Amino acid sequence: MTTWMVEYFYNRVQNVIKKYSIERHWQTLNEEAGGMNDVLYKLFCITQDPKHLMLAHLFDKPCFLGLLALQADDISGFHSNTHIPIVIGSQMRYEVTGDQLHKTISMFFMDIVNSSHTYATGGTSVGEFWSDPKRLASNLDSNTEESCTTYNMLKVSRHLFRWTKEIAYADYYERSLTNGVLGIQRGTEPGVMIYLLPLAPGSSKERSYHHWGTPSDSFWCCYGTGIESFSKLGDSIYFEEEGKYPGVYIIQYISSRLDWKSGQIVVNQKVDPVVSWDPYLRVTLTFSSKGSGLTTSLNLRIPTWTSSNGAKATLNGQDLPLPSPGNFLSVTKTWSSDDKLTIQLPLTLRTEAIQDDRPEYASIQAILYGPYVLAGHSIGDWDITESATSLSDWITPIPASYNSQLITFTQEYGNTKFVLTNSNQSITMEKFPKSGTDAALHATFRLILNDSSGSEFSSLNDFIGKSVMLEPFDSPGMLVIQHETDDELVVTDSFIAQGSSVFHLVAGLDGGDRTVSLESETYKGCFVYTAVNLQSSESTKLGCISESTEAGFNNAASFVIEKGLSEYHPISFVAKGANRNFLLAPLLSLRDESYTVYFDFQS
Ligand SMILES: [Zn+2]
Repeated sequence: MTTWMVEYFYNRVQNVIKKYSIERHWQTLNEEAGGMNDVLYKLFCITQDPKHLMLAHLFDKPCFLGLLALQADDISGFHSNTHIPIVIGSQMRYEVTGDQLHKTISMFFMDIVNSSHTYATGGTSVGEFWSDPKRLASNLDSNTEESCTTYNMLKVSRHLFRWTKEIAYADYYERSLTNGVLGIQRGTEPGVMIYLLPLAPGSSKERSYHHWGTPSDSFWCCYGTGIESFSKLGDSIYFEEEGKYPGVYIIQYISSRLDWKSGQIVVNQKVDPVVSWDPYLRVTLTFSSKGSGLTTSLNLRIPTWTSSNGAKATLNGQDLPLPSPGNFLSVTKTWSSDDKLTIQLPLTLRTEAIQDDRPEYASIQAILYGPYVLAGHSIGDWDITESATSLSDWITPIPASYNSQLITFTQEYGNTKFVLTNSNQSITMEKFPKSGTDAALHATFRLILNDSSGSEFSSLNDFIGKSVMLEPFDSPGMLVIQHETDDELVVTDSFIAQGSSVFHLVAGLDGGDRTVSLESETYKGCFVYTAVNLQSSESTKLGCISESTEAGFNNAASFVIEKGLSEYHPISFVAKGANRNFLLAPLLSLRDESYTVYFDFQS
């Protein structure tokens, strides 16, 4: 089928050139024809038919590969996802013909894309095109980073790693896979993917140019590459090498099992889940020997993002000397089923400036934790006051125990369920939201205990009788505040709060067996309540029981406590901002929520 199709293209290209001109053929390459040379070189490997080789050459777009051959960073204005596949084809040309020029071309291409056109996520392009080198601060909008380009840059870096064994290419692969592939699907919903990953302050994947697609009615280019990307998550973890001692390179730390035929062993890689409160990547390798006693080499990537301070590797409990970050740890031995190799790598928190050479944009920086780009929950605020102290003084991990403190207060009226919500710093009741949205974040609060009598909640009884403060989930450091009775509740910075923030959780005034009421600690006998017969959004006040209390008050002051609609990702931090604190979580974990990836660090 493929050879027949290629025969058709061969005749067609031949006709265009004979009847019109070679120029006319080159013009067709200005459309999204990338990938043709790649396919044709691969086909030539199988068929050895010179016609296939010649046709492949005719798709090596000379005006693009030519400028790369001249080492000119002049890719601005080119359509990214047309031209990355042309470079991949050029890489195949090197593999098929051994022509060194095509190796040099792709190394230069990767260098300029990586140094001048790449976001902290590893992605590239704006509105599908490349812009001026080192001017990415002008690109931050909802059209950044077409998903297809990440898919194709992974192919480029994979080939380069195979040829050179340079860690930089493996680091690039990890960063792009982590931030540019894993987060382009909405959570675990197969077939809900995005075209462009937006990087403007206050972005949302839901509000990107095409927003999320649908499982069966969207078929953009990024659906083809996106679905393929998720089908090959096991790709490029291991690379093997022939030699006196056969070698295997482990370049990605992903729990997996390698049945290594030529090494005659099975390698089992187990990676502990990464969390913010214990800043290490921990990997354990165990082996199943296939019995032949072959001596082999294992080479483990020590990523450039880690630090020697605190890094550790052991073989059967004995420390191994570790090379500095950016090198491979190599161990050669005859592996047996009793062997156990472990590595522990510090996950460093760091900031990284946007690729922009204009001094006025030097303050625009992303925050990373190991390979993870951290996004702040924000609808646009991106100001951080830079302090001279170390990063760990103003970015602190969220402890594991906090997830059990997250709750959502609900009420039902008729058949409609409502949730207590932080609506732009006032407290209202809103319709029950979809998870993974800003509305779900705003309907989640952390109960901060006003005394130290235990902080784990598992049943309703754990809440009753407690004095608590309510911290909105995505506004760490803010609290729900009561002013006077009959005043609306507001959300204020806990340091400048006037009024009272402490509530006493009591059994629901409605007498229900699943409800609680929130009594003011300052204004005894006064409770958080909402308008009776709630229809839609209503503000929430502090109301006091009195003879004139309307019928229905007890119901309006009683809430069901449910597990928080949102929860902290295990990699979550609080960063002190200039105007507010930011809740940071990996960009890959976000669904529809608003976020900011690049912050403005002002001194
Ligand atoms: Zn695409």
